[in-house]
Amino acid sequence: MKAYKHLFFDLDGTLWDIHGNAKMTLQQMFVQFELQHVSFEDFHAIYLHHNERVWAMYRQGTMNKEELRTARFSRSFDELGVSYTADWMEQFAQAFVDQCPRQPHVIPGAIELLRYLQGRYSMHIITNGFKEIQGIKMEGSGLAPFFMHNINSEDVGVRKPHPQIFEYALQLTGAVKEESLMIGDDWEADILGARNFGMDQVFLQFNTQRHNVKPTFTIQHLLELKNIL
Ligand SMILES: [Mg+2]
Repeated sequence: MKAYKHLFFDLDGTLWDIHGNAKMTLQQMFVQFELQHVSFEDFHAIYLHHNERVWAMYRQGTMNKEELRTARFSRSFDELGVSYTADWMEQFAQAFVDQCPRQPHVIPGAIELLRYLQGRYSMHIITNGFKEIQGIKMEGSGLAPFFMHNINSEDVGVRKPHPQIFEYALQLTGAVKEESLMIGDDWEADILGARNFGMDQVFLQFNTQRHNVKPTFTIQHLLELKNIL
């Protein structure tokens, strides 16, 4: 096994519990925006589908950040047949980006793992998330103190899986490929991205979907990293 020195973590869904935090935020917003006549569970299932799709478009560069902010919600409400004004949609989308990053929940085992790794590895974040909110998430959830560098796709101008963001990460941190490991939950952005760049990968896999290439390591729980590192 290689002697890794630098660990590059994805943030959303790998350390910060984006799905749990987003669900909790949306539940609170349903009360705040008086949407009690709409089934939250129906909305949430539809939202997950559209959110996934618009983020894929954002990664591919076919949707911009401003469009994504509202499209994930407007597409969901459209499908549910809920009508709204442009003004209301803007307020709804803004409330989400204001409130969601302040939710504190992390992926099970995250803090215990980072305490275990701290001092033994240089740890950094590589994220495609919006720059102005990733820092709030990290502060509020207690993740911030563990990381030396936060590499944001908005600083680089390209998003994972683009190799340039991995190249930028190595330059910024002074790491070399052979001593670096990418840890993430997104098959395309994190795993194929790092793999195509030539960096080892740990796939945090929460589903049973099959893929035709094998990551360097696959884990189902963050604490399994203790067996690797
Ligand atoms: Mg992720």
